[in-house]
Amino acid sequence: MSEPSRWNPRTLAAQALGTVDPLTRAVVPPLHVATTFIRDPDNEYRSGYAYGRPDNATVRQTEAVIAALEGANEALVFGSGMAAATSVILAVPPGSRIVASQVMYWAFRRWLMSEGPRFGYTIEFVDTTNLDAVRDALKPATALLYVETPGNPLWPISDIAALAEIAHAAGAMLAIDSTCATPVFTQPLRLGADIVMHSASKYLNGHSDVIAGALATARASELWERINSIRIEHGAILGPFEAWLLQRGLRTLDVRVRAQAASAAILAERLSTHPSVASVLYPGLSSHPGHAVAARQMSGFGAMLSIRLKGGAAAAIATAAKVELWKRATSLGGVESLIEHRGSVEGPPCPTDLLRLSVGLEHPDDLFSDLEDAIRAAHGAAA
Ligand SMILES: *Cc1c(COP(=O)(O)O)cnc(C)c1O
Repeated sequence: MSEPSRWNPRTLAAQALGTVDPLTRAVVPPLHVATTFIRDPDNEYRSGYAYGRPDNATVRQTEAVIAALEGANEALVFGSGMAAATSVILAVPPGSRIVASQVMYWAFRRWLMSEGPRFGYTIEFVDTTNLDAVRDALKPATALLYVETPGNPLWPISDIAALAEIAHAAGAMLAIDSTCATPVFTQPLRLGADIVMHSASKYLNGHSDVIAGALATARASELWERINSIRIEHGAILGPFEAWLLQRGLRTLDVRVRAQAASAAILAERLSTHPSVASVLYPGLSSHPGHAVAARQMSGFGAMLSIRLKGGAAAAIATAAKVELWKRATSLGGVESLIEHRGSVEGPPCPTDLLRLSVGLEHPDDLFSDLEDAIRAAHGAAA
């Protein structure tokens, strides 16, 4: 793993590693769109670039910034978070056993359940906040432990350092979906994870205008080599324009997520005393079951929270229908705040009285007052 940089992540990201275009001295790295590159007369490719699928300079630049933010040996970007996550699984030898978090991004859990067996994998889902349950699940030879923390949409916190020890003692690799933690608040590789995954469509890009994924690794490994060739040979690459936009988004990552997390904490506090709210799920609240681990492992509690409404599913759906400022939409991690009734998307076991909130950069007072009005209006409509 690379040495911790002398500079803070915020500094590294703000300057996109200080990269300057060598030709023009521009402070913004250029967008390289060429799919093919001239061979030298002796048939060599001394520039290091031959074809756009395996290699693109803009993509490499974005990967270097992500690697720096994660303290990684290397990072790879993909055409989506799903392309990144599925590449990790497909890099594991067919027939392997894989253990994964019970609470995780629903579409990937669904893929693991439906497609995993087709590739010959045995997949077991466990509560990865329960270390004994993980130890038991890893007793049969297991290739990979795949953990999402904080986990969608209940935000359980899994102890990455403890899981790394348990996984490695059992001979398994540990991959962490750190999408909602962001590299600003958690650096899983420094806590012992082998691979960290991001849906870069979320906080890393941050502006709800790019679909992208990223993986980063602590060190070279056979698994990482396989992931690299899957990305190239399955064509799971990110286009240069998306990579360029992502690199631009990364420049403001630190200041964005800190402001968003500060607002999320304010909302969590205020909502937790609201008479129509049954519970607030936010790792920053001392009432949250993962609070102690989060306080140890994260330098901030993130900007995702969920609320459960006393009026049940009807009140939750009606509240989402009544907001004016919050955007009623899926996804998360953008500068605009989003609200979503996850039960309608995921089905069981997602609680039907739950609304997921992705807190953006609006003033927290505005966000609270809009939500409070919507909860009141929904209560009136239901009564
Ligand atoms: C969105 C998301 C994904 C999937 O990423 P896409 O970019 O939509 O393919 C995976 N994990 C988490 C936690 C996510 O929020």
